[in-house]
Amino acid sequence: AYVVTDACIDVQDRACMEECPVDCIYPGERMMYIHPDECVDCGKCMPACPSEAIHWEHKMPPEQLEFVDANAVFVREQ
Ligand code: SF4
Repeated sequence: AYVVTDACIDVQDRACMEECPVDCIYPGERMMYIHPDECVDCGKCMPACPSEAIHWEHKMPPEQLEFVDANAVFVREQ
């Protein structure tokens, strides 16, 4: 799955939502989150983000690995 990271916080541009073919990107209070079970790994959201906040889970910058869990936890609590 693709993952939204901290660069989205207080930005929430939402350009990613326009691109996602399966509507699996959800707005939270301060950032967007991607549902890991619904994401089909198409990659379209990544270049759409003006903040470069979206990464593929297998190529996450190490300091942002915590957001893999953060995205999963957020969507499962909805
Ligand atoms: Fe949606 Fe594709 Fe991004 Fe997954 S990779 S969140 S399916 S646009």
